Amino acid sequence: MSSMIPVAILAATGSVGQRFVQLLDQHSWFKVVALTASDRSEGRSYREACRWILQDPMPAWAGEMTVLPTNVEAVLSATKPSIVFSALPTDIASDVEPQFAKAGMMVCSNASAYRQEADVPILLPEVNPEHAAIIEYQRKNRNWSGGITTNPNCTSTGLTVALRALQNAFGLRCAFVVSLQALSGAGYPGVPSIDILDNTIPYIGGEETKVEWEPRKMLGTLENNAIELADFAISAHTNRVAVSDGHLVCLSVELGERANIKDVTEVLRSYQCPEISKSLPSTPDPIILVRDEDNRPQQRLDRMTGKGMTTVVGRLRPDPLFDYKMVILSHNTIRGAAGGSIYNAELLVKAGIVLNYKSESYQQE
Ligand code: NAP
Repeated sequence: MSSMIPVAILAATGSVGQRFVQLLDQHSWFKVVALTASDRSEGRSYREACRWILQDPMPAWAGEMTVLPTNVEAVLSATKPSIVFSALPTDIASDVEPQFAKAGMMVCSNASAYRQEADVPILLPEVNPEHAAIIEYQRKNRNWSGGITTNPNCTSTGLTVALRALQNAFGLRCAFVVSLQALSGAGYPGVPSIDILDNTIPYIGGEETKVEWEPRKMLGTLENNAIELADFAISAHTNRVAVSDGHLVCLSVELGERANIKDVTEVLRSYQCPEISKSLPSTPDPIILVRDEDNRPQQRLDRMTGKGMTTVVGRLRPDPLFDYKMVILSHNTIRGAAGGSIYNAELLVKAGIVLNYKSESYQQE
């Protein structure tokens, strides 16, 4: 490795921000040079400002850093980061992220603010790395030297990985999904305990629209600097359940062509990501794990499969209304948020899209 790539974390004190700190601790390519948050935290040490909620201890280097305000000038006062990981609330992200992109930094965002923009990719490296090419157009279009890329909402993540495998092999006609989403997906402190204990909440604001649209963008095709949505429909119900981490999605799917269950199982089990996304530090191993037991996947037992980056599929069986049904699990704050953004950043570096870094220098170690 020639040199470490400097990165910043915006909104480092929240549920996703903490995952960034944890996952970037000892990352082989990236070194954290700035942590930001709201004016509640600004000027305090990260240890003081952050109510750490992860099982692993807070890395010592992070605890000693001073939390900066979330603006370009403050972040540039440290070493200029090449990549900015954003865990900002969406309303703040819509103002702040373009300022970092304009100032030459590559923003890898978890917020939904720019996912619907035509020139901003929603990336999953194991699904649609080719969509990263639109960033060159985005730069010209917006006169930015940096850029913005996003990862999908956490419920769409594992769902889209499984749908990609099925789409490649058989095509897709329509999908019906019901989610059971963990509490950490609502941030910290999130849903009041009195509302969720002994309960399921059958409404998550804005979530169903995202789950019905974002997979179609990721599974769509990039042509002439535009992403054409994949031509299939999704109907989604989204629910909050009293689980700490991990989103389960029950999927019923109609395929583009007839397939027997053995072939469907094999297609999911053997799915490989596109060449450029293989062998990056965060590449899931395996990409998809298919479980054969009647009662898996389960959030508590299976969410850390592949260090929280693997999509776990189980209960694959025929569906009397559609073709097949199955249960899909992915870790919402790792694969669905911070880990996904880091994987995106690794892809962008390897593709030579992050300025100043030659892709050859950052092959797998
Ligand atoms: P969270 O736990 O509520 O954390 C919010 C963070 O935003 C804190 O660091 C907070 O800093 C900071 N913040 C609030 N107002 C700010 C401001 N005016 N300026 C700068 N920073 C500000 O939320 P989260 O779950 O981490 O979610 C972060 C983003 O990721 C959201 O856009 C969310 O939709 C998205 N996302 C979350 C998940 C998930 O599973 N949780 C998955 C995918 C995407 P202080 O501590 O200083 O208040």
